[in-house]
Amino acid sequence: MSQEIQQTQTTCPYCGVGCGVDARQLNGQLLPVSGTQTHPANFGRLCVKGSNLHDTLDHDGRLLTPTMAGKPTSWNQALNLIADKIQQVLNSHGPEAIGFYGSGQLLTEDYYVANKLMKGFIGSANMDTNSRLCMASAVAGYKRAFGSDTVPGCYEDLEQTDLLLLVGSNTAWAHPIIFQRISQAKKNNPAMKVVVIDPRRTATCDIADLHLALKPGSDGFLFNALLAYLANHNALDQAFIEQHTEGFDAALTEAQQQCSDLEAVAQQCDLPLADLETCFEWFANSPTAVTAYSMGINQSATGTDKANAIINVHLASGKIGKPGSCPFSITGQPNAMGGREVGGLANQLAAHMDFAAADRERIKRFWQSPGVAEKPGLKAIDLFKAAEKGDIKFLWIMSTNPVVSMPDADLIKRALKKVELVVVSDCMADTDTAAFAHVLLPAASWGEKNGTVTNSERRISRQRGFLPSPGDAKPDWWMLTQVAQRLGFEQQFNYQKPYDVFIEHARLSAFENNGSRDFDLSGLAEMTEAEFEALAPIQWPINHQYPQGRARFYDDGHFYTPTGKARFVSNTPALPQKASDNALSGLTLNMNTGRIRDHWHTMTRTGKASVLAQHISEPFVDIHPTDAANAGIKDKQLVVVRSELNEILVRAQLTDAQKSGEVFVPMHWTARYSKQARMGSLINSDHDPVSGQPELKITDVSLSPARVDWQGFILSKADLFLLNDDSQRQDFECEYWTTGKTQSGYFYNVAGTGTGITLLNEIKQRLTAQAADQHSPDNQPSHNGQYQWICLDDNNQGHHRWACVCNHQLLALMFIHATHQPLTLNRGWLIEQFNNPELDRDTRLALLTGKPPGQKEDPGAIVCSCFQVGERAIQKAIAAGADSAAALGEKLLCGTNCGSCIPELTAMIKSYTPAQADELATELSES
Ligand code: SF4
Repeated sequence: MSQEIQQTQTTCPYCGVGCGVDARQLNGQLLPVSGTQTHPANFGRLCVKGSNLHDTLDHDGRLLTPTMAGKPTSWNQALNLIADKIQQVLNSHGPEAIGFYGSGQLLTEDYYVANKLMKGFIGSANMDTNSRLCMASAVAGYKRAFGSDTVPGCYEDLEQTDLLLLVGSNTAWAHPIIFQRISQAKKNNPAMKVVVIDPRRTATCDIADLHLALKPGSDGFLFNALLAYLANHNALDQAFIEQHTEGFDAALTEAQQQCSDLEAVAQQCDLPLADLETCFEWFANSPTAVTAYSMGINQSATGTDKANAIINVHLASGKIGKPGSCPFSITGQPNAMGGREVGGLANQLAAHMDFAAADRERIKRFWQSPGVAEKPGLKAIDLFKAAEKGDIKFLWIMSTNPVVSMPDADLIKRALKKVELVVVSDCMADTDTAAFAHVLLPAASWGEKNGTVTNSERRISRQRGFLPSPGDAKPDWWMLTQVAQRLGFEQQFNYQKPYDVFIEHARLSAFENNGSRDFDLSGLAEMTEAEFEALAPIQWPINHQYPQGRARFYDDGHFYTPTGKARFVSNTPALPQKASDNALSGLTLNMNTGRIRDHWHTMTRTGKASVLAQHISEPFVDIHPTDAANAGIKDKQLVVVRSELNEILVRAQLTDAQKSGEVFVPMHWTARYSKQARMGSLINSDHDPVSGQPELKITDVSLSPARVDWQGFILSKADLFLLNDDSQRQDFECEYWTTGKTQSGYFYNVAGTGTGITLLNEIKQRLTAQAADQHSPDNQPSHNGQYQWICLDDNNQGHHRWACVCNHQLLALMFIHATHQPLTLNRGWLIEQFNNPELDRDTRLALLTGKPPGQKEDPGAIVCSCFQVGERAIQKAIAAGADSAAALGEKLLCGTNCGSCIPELTAMIKSYTPAQADELATELSES
């Protein structure tokens, strides 16, 4: 048999860094992926999410066939129904009653066809995208300042700069490869300074020379004050301001009126004056500077003003268009930028055109469409509010999960119930949003799809398929094309393959452009299909002037405004208002939200990789110890986080990395993975008036200990939620559960009131029913009564430990204790036992003690996912003298593969105290 490895060069589907990935197969078997050495985004590196992509490619949970009203159907029937409904709504209610909601997960080709169908042929601009939640304010800020949505710089600027301000960005976890590039650059050039501006002390602070833990929402004061400071300290680039900008005097006057008193600004931002002055002094005196910003700026009710406050200081100091100098918005999603190129937002048209008559007429001629939408459509929040009012009759949701990710997430549920026909195209069958679909369309997934994506630095990369799609799954561009053809637009939607779509997209960008628009792919518009297949990553624009792409814009001082000059945008900073009745009702803490290191968005993909569940396996709330003490909350206790809209149940993590008065909750847990942890259900729909981007960082909440009488941990080979008569999902009845994958099954953290024995009996019943259902060929139960239950019950204490064994193999393991704390068990060893082909007597006995015979040490929470190194081993190594991440790597290998855990390793070293060493020594001697 041939031993040839087949390799496909593709692009990671997670964050906006856009890393190149080499997917490999040997004789049809998937091998671990690796980073593409030549890809200019990552040069061979991958973070822990990217490194585990091959583990997410199974067909578990995939949507395999179109369904209508929950019943499988053919593509033809589903597509006919969709086209008929669109036509009927058009006839009865007009185009404004139709909505599309897309995603930064779509490929550019999918996005292009969706946008064309909606805005050019259905005739409404009600096509918005979850990128509205991600970077709409950055887009609006760029357009106000530059006249176009242009990211001015490139990743090399982050390495070449003398001063990097990272604002509202936990780069170490959210954009890990960018973080690694910056870390390396700082090692190469120790004079390079990094300032982290973020209310939380995150892993990113590992490389910070200065951390400004400002008050949430006060960024506008800081950057306006910086503008005033530059003027007062003779640090303006007068020549650049005069030749290439307009509106400077008004912006400076506004900034000086509001923010020239540094002491007052320091107070408003809750920062030490000296730190603020240090940061300003560095900026003023630094030959180059980059301000990189992401969700902490964008996800704000004043996000656009904040973006312009940042851009203003770069224009004022001329720190733009030069190597190592620019205001740089880092996008969250893998193809947020591609969506912007094709007009995926409701207030854009394709190829960076707007709703001006000339643009609409140009697009209409190019598309040969009956007409192009006359006005911007409904942005995400307004789209779903219109649906709740009954104004949207048809809604197609593509590759996204708004029931989890949108603010006021329960409004989304109500809205979807009002829409006459909800279509959801997704690769997964059981997302929270899919539950509301009348029609489900199986979408091709990463590894199967073909097309392009554009990363944060405008670099277009090919995403290439290397696996066949399972079942009837199809790419989104194909579904949309089929619907368009059924609506009578065969000629204009005659695409056979992604290449056809991309070429049309490139030609539209070039159509009557002549340098008037920044987005120009004319250099790719005549590519052959073979050239498209081989396309190497390249930054737009690609045209006769920049045939190999352009790293930086504005090096020529030309902007895309009518005058060709950049615009300063005056803005008046304001702190988020706290409703006084919220304070009265005890909602006195502010909830911030964001990502964790090893999960992506709503976990539909990362939830499949068991390795990624080991770093953090439960939804949590980070809380300062003082606030926790005030609320009577102990570390690791389950707590209720309550807002004016809803409440969730998550685990408390006490940390002084969190400012007092602030808490942090991750965004990832859905109803698929946790009983009650959708943070979106807590957040109201406040949003930026310019960009429409929701405020996801400021929500008044209160915390209180959850009322639970017992806690438990359960492992099972089979998914216990699916063990019932009709294989319909049936969650546990208890007050709290979270679940995830292990290497050989599923884990469940559980808690509840009363006695946990009820849950144990329910699970036992499910397992027994399953055993009865499994028949051998002679129609006898295959286990033949060999299910063995090993039980240890202490009814007085409320402690129960049960194991279910069959044919000497472990099927389930359950620990329930009457306690408010999670159980101390060697979870790694217990999980390993599910792969043990024959449990011996000692191991069986040890199972219920929760640790191996001979008391092998519990590794604790996994910090390094690549080499499965737990916090206990790391603490021991630190106690033994390892004083750097490199030293820990030498000893334990941790941090030596993808490097995603290095900031945590460093933080553990920094926070390690002799008292901890003593504690550890005592514990070890006792064990
Ligand atoms: Fe993927 Fe990680 Fe690269 Fe982001 S940084 S694109 S998640 S490998």
